[in-house]
Amino acid sequence: MTDIYDCIIVGAGPAGLAAALYTSRDRFKSLMLEKFQPGGQINNTDRIENYPGIKHTDGPGLIETMYNQAEHFGTEIQTNCEVTKLEKSSDGNIVVFCDEQQFAAKAVILAPGSDYRKLGVPGEEKFRKAGAGVSYCGTCDGPFFKGKQVVCVGGGNTAIEETLGLTRFAEKVTLIHRRDEFRATKVLAEELLQKAQKPDSNLIIKYSTVATAIQGKEKVQSVKLKNIKTGREEDYPCDGVFIFIGMVPNTNFIKGFVELTDKGFIKCDCAYLRTNVPGVFVAGDCRVGAAMQLATAVADGIVAAMMLRQYFREPKWWKEPVSDLLQPAGW
Ligand SMILES: Cc1cc2nc3c(=O)[nH]c(=O)nc-3n(C[C@H](O)[C@H](O)[C@H](O)COP(=O)(O)OP(=O)(O)OC[C@H]3O[C@@H](n4cnc5c(N)ncnc54)[C@H](O)[C@@H]3O)c2cc1C
Repeated sequence: MTDIYDCIIVGAGPAGLAAALYTSRDRFKSLMLEKFQPGGQINNTDRIENYPGIKHTDGPGLIETMYNQAEHFGTEIQTNCEVTKLEKSSDGNIVVFCDEQQFAAKAVILAPGSDYRKLGVPGEEKFRKAGAGVSYCGTCDGPFFKGKQVVCVGGGNTAIEETLGLTRFAEKVTLIHRRDEFRATKVLAEELLQKAQKPDSNLIIKYSTVATAIQGKEKVQSVKLKNIKTGREEDYPCDGVFIFIGMVPNTNFIKGFVELTDKGFIKCDCAYLRTNVPGVFVAGDCRVGAAMQLATAVADGIVAAMMLRQYFREPKWWKEPVSDLLQPAGW
């Protein structure tokens, strides 16, 4: 171990890159460690239409700019470097383990993101690329299915909210759920059922049904459905499949170091993004309460970086409750 960094950022997705831009512009000695290549999930799409201020962009293009910005202001970036463990050292610094290497910092911003939970059926990976028909985000991709037929999979709150949202774009939306009742809150489930019961509704619900394959040539053309009670199978024509069965946070490597929810999301106070370990902030899709959007991941990175200043100024602040009185640092 050589230098002690002011800040180590784990993960070079939108949250990590935004944090790095701010910490390095603050002249904090910053190191970013990324398991693969920079970009995170957004690298997988060439169509972004909901990033405020930019009418249309693609993931790799946006990430290249964000990466260059962070590097330009002095962030050191190591790619192909998977963080496997963190420890607090006796001198109060945080040691970050990455393959054979170890780095130390006064503070850490955790931004390892999450992955969409997969159905694991044939065709899912093949059609996952943008425009081919498999999506995990209705808010992101709904408008691309205007006038088309889509199948949604899931039964929780997100599944229902996203399905209802899709009925505003798609000509026909079919929600399949493996159980015969929804896990989602009653109010949402009722709204969904009311919508489906309207005579001119474009929403169909199929209970006790699972998808066993996603089929097509270049793009999705149908999904194979199976009723798990009757065993009946059918090829169900559609242009897209939206999978809303949850997120899996990339947090195995910090189990036991910071507090996690039972689903593995990093616990924090959602105003200042402090974890239970002083000096360790969290940002983006890996945290409890994340909105799972590009813009909110970026916003988190910025908040965590700005709160880092507050922590360096006044370390005791870590234990203070969230306050209306904290002055924003401005730019
Ligand atoms: C196909 C697709 C399309 C999308 N389209 C949109 C859209 O149009 N609009 C929108 O708002 N949102 C969209 N999203 C969601 C958006 O991409 C995410 O909300 C956002 O990327 C979250 O950013 P993040 O930095 O928190 O996490 P991530 O993007 O997941 O980045 C985390 C990074 O951390 C790295 N990492 C993980 N573990 C480790 C480790 N142990 N050590 C080192 N590095 C690690 C990962 O490799 C990754 O690079 C889309 C997502 C997908 C998959």
